[in-house]
This record gives sequence, C-alpha cells and structure tokens, in this order.
Amino acid sequence: MEKQAVDKAREAFLSGRSRPLKYRKQQLCALLRLITDHQADIAAALKQDLHRSDLDTPLLELIGLEKDIKLAESKLSDWSSPQHVQRNLLTITNDVYIQAEPLGVVLIIGAWNYPWALTLQPLVGAIAAGNAAVVKPSEVSKNSASLIKELLPQYLDKEMYPVVTGGVPETQELLKQRFDHIFYTGNSTVGKLVMEAASHHLTPVTLELGGKSPCYIDKDCDIAVACRRITWGKFTNCGQTCIAPDYILCHPSIQNRVIEEIRMTLQEFYGEDPKSSPDYGRIINLHHFERILALMDGGTVALGGESDKTQCYIAPTVLKDVLPHARIMQEEIFGPVLPIITISDVSEVIRFISEREKPLALYVFSSDKKVIKRMLSETSSGGVVVNDAIMHYTVNSLPFGGVGNSGMGSYHGKHTFDQLSHHRACLVRSLAMESLNKPRYPPLTPSRLSRARFFLLSRLCSCEQAVCAWAVIATILALGLFIALLVVLLKEPVA
Ligand code: NAD
Repeated sequence: MEKQAVDKAREAFLSGRSRPLKYRKQQLCALLRLITDHQADIAAALKQDLHRSDLDTPLLELIGLEKDIKLAESKLSDWSSPQHVQRNLLTITNDVYIQAEPLGVVLIIGAWNYPWALTLQPLVGAIAAGNAAVVKPSEVSKNSASLIKELLPQYLDKEMYPVVTGGVPETQELLKQRFDHIFYTGNSTVGKLVMEAASHHLTPVTLELGGKSPCYIDKDCDIAVACRRITWGKFTNCGQTCIAPDYILCHPSIQNRVIEEIRMTLQEFYGEDPKSSPDYGRIINLHHFERILALMDGGTVALGGESDKTQCYIAPTVLKDVLPHARIMQEEIFGPVLPIITISDVSEVIRFISEREKPLALYVFSSDKKVIKRMLSETSSGGVVVNDAIMHYTVNSLPFGGVGNSGMGSYHGKHTFDQLSHHRACLVRSLAMESLNKPRYPPLTPSRLSRARFFLLSRLCSCEQAVCAWAVIATILALGLFIALLVVLLKEPVA
C-alpha cells in the first residue's frame, strides 16, 4: 500500500507533468479552494481532535497556509527563473546561473498539534518546486487525518500527491522507500529514526523538531504587556505548540508580579473557569494528559493545577520557584504548564540557555537595549523574538526552523520552495574562442599558469556588469571602425 503510493508518485513525477509552472499554479489554486470550501469541516475536525475553537482554526492554521499559497502562486515565475550570478574573465561571454529544479518525490510527515498547517504548508513548497509528494498526516489527530485523506484527492492530482494514513508501522514502511527528500515534523526521538532511515538512500531531510523554548523576562520591561503576550503564546492550543514558551526565567523580585499578571490575563482570556471557555483547548489524548501531569509532580502550583481525565483537561497552570533539575525541566512540556525559574542576572540567563540544547525559539522581554543585544549575540536558537512570543511564525519572509537538537532546514514562504528545490549550478559555454582555454591545458608552463591564475582570479562580472563591459568593448570597436573608415575616406582622391 505504502510502496504502491510511492511508486505511483514516482511514475507521476517521471511523466514530467509537474514541471510546467501552469500545472503547479493550478494545483496551488486547487489547494486554496480546498481550504476555502472546507473551512467549516476543517474547524469541526479540529474541534474533535483538540477542542479547538472555530475561530482559532483560521487564525492559527488556515491564514498562514493561505498566505503561503498566494505568495507561491504570485512569485513562482520569479523563483523558478534562472538567477544570473557573477562571472570571471573566462566566462564573460557565457551564461552563468543558478536554476531551481524539482528534487523528485518528497515525503511529508506531519504532526498532530497543527495538523493542517504542518502537513499542507510543506506541500505548498513541494508543489511550487515541481515535486511529487507523498503526504502522511499524523494519526494522533485522527479526525484531521481522515479529512485530509478524503479531501486532498478531490482537489489535487491524486497520483502526484497521494495521502497515506496510519501510525508507526505505516510510517516505518514508508521510510523504507526511496525518496528525494523527507520533510518531517515531530519530536526529536522520531527525528533521529527518520534521519537514520533517510541515510540508507542518502536522502536529504528537513527536521522540524521541538524542545524547550526559554522565555526571559527582564526586570526592566512592561511586565503586564510581557505577561499578556506570554500567556497567549503559552496557553493557545492548550500549550501544544512547538514554539510555545516552555519556561520563564526572571529575577526573584518580579516572580510574584509575573504570576499575578498571568492570573489576570488568564481570567480575561478564559474567564473564571477555563474548562467551560470555548477558547481553551484540550490535551490531544490520555497518553499526553498523563505525561504532562507526571511532569508537574512535586512542583509548587502558583496558578491552576486542576485536571479532568474524562475530558483530557488540564487547567492553565503556573509553577513557581522551579529548580533547574526538576523533572519538568528535563523534557519539552508541550502542554499548559508554565514553570518559573528565578535567576539573578542576564549573564546567568545566557549561561542557563547556552548549557542546554539549542531551542527552537527564544523569547526576550526587555526595554534595555544592552540586555537585548547581549541576549541576541550570546545565545543561539532556531528563531528569536524580542518582546513577543510566537509571532515570528507569522512572518513568512523569515525562515522557520530549528538548530541543533531543535531541527535542521527551514521553511515558510520562499524558504519552503528553496528547501524543496535543487539549486543547480549552470554554466553554458560556446565552442568558440578555444585559444582562451590554452592556459589550462597541458603541457603546463609557468607562463600558462600565470595566465590561468589571472583569468581564474578575476571576478568582475555580474550580468549587468557583463552587459556594460560588452557595451564599452562594442563602443571602442565601433569608434575604431569609424576612425579607420574616416582615414580611408580622407585618403581617397576627390573625383
Ligand atoms: P506525532 O506523534 O504526530 O508524530 C509525528 C509523525 O511521526 C507522525 O506522522 C507519526 O506517524 C510519525 N511517527 C511517530 N512515531 C514514529 C516512529 N516510531 N517511527 C516512524 N514514524 C513515527 O507528533 P509528536 O512527535 O508528538 O509531535 C510533537 C513534537 O513535535 C514536539 O516535540 C513539538 O515540539 C514538535 N513539533 C515541531 C514543530 C516544528 O515546526 N518545529 C511543529 C509541531 C510540533
């Protein structure tokens, strides 16, 4: 079944029909129609999967997807046209350019927390780049997975973009097949398995992973605004966001103020009882529900802490005075629990962050330019946001991805197209002017070598510069010709 889908996609790709821009644009339009026509069905599936509010679905998943589709459609001709690059003296008359070309068949393995965006946004890039793609939605968000399986073939070329559903065995079967790129979103443990499987065919991978994203609140900042933005970033989708602030670092003197501001914001967002708020989600399943509760064990609850197993409900929770070696600090929380760790100064914060795995995101709240500068220059993370949370995800001119343990490769906007294209180096020469090539041919002599050196080291021409150079040469030649003609004419005896 899995092999058949891959073979069909390979055959479709080899037919060449995904290469013309017209086809790619048609498929992108069809994908846009799918999410427009079925917005209500998508929201209903997410309500069942994650108790997601109907209005959060466009905000958190569909608008970003729509933006990427529209961008790809409008910029596709630019992105896929040859990018001319600098030449040297030896290649001054040649075509020297980079051509984006399709990779072939891409495997897209999606995750469950934003099942539409995380599965279809890579697909946008795969289509735009002219690839075939096998789409494997996460089985954990099962309602979304079966809707993707039902809808995609109704809108897209179903041989070129088959959907394979299923869990671990099906994904492992897929991973045995040969792909030209694997785009995986999920946890780091499975990320390693994906990379291992990919290595058997030397298949390149994009790994969109997670980790613990720190959030530093400096004493010198508007704490009320900072906590409002953090509360939104943390508790949206019930904390099940790869770039949610995982924990807060702050000075002990502001800890209580931070807790109070978060308490007031939670009340404003979700009312007295978050459980009955349409805007507050649920944990995806019992496995994750129990995992998160176990992480909270032994922590001092400052806010929330309630749970209801029958609904996979965990209240928005803040833990105070958490120690760095506490259990909750040993793995990504991926749920609505926010530990606060107190820390004395910025140097200690930088050290705390740098001693750990490189995070997917880092958040810094401060009004002090020196603090911001130090945090930006002395730490590393996939992305960083100053004075907000999550928002870099919405800027599709920024590459979205991790570094080190939080992943490799990036996407969104043109970055997805680039990630799923091969950037082919093209040098198109003519067979004329063979004498110019002599310096590189044997038998080599010192003078040939020095000429070769001169030609190879010169790097003067971009496309425009080459045109200018040719214009100057042409002008000199024309001028020479004109003078020669004039001399001849002046020498002619007047009849
Ligand atoms: P998940 O359980 O949905 O797994 C992701 C995919 O991997 C699924 O399609 C699943 O079928 C497959 N899979 C699971 N186990 C496998 C195995 N043993 N062998 C082969 N395939 C397997 O999602 P998850 O891993 O629970 O997702 C949560 C994690 O993903 C978090 O760490 C989160 O931070 C990260 N994440 C990262 C991003 C990002 O963009 N960087 C986005 C969302 C989630």
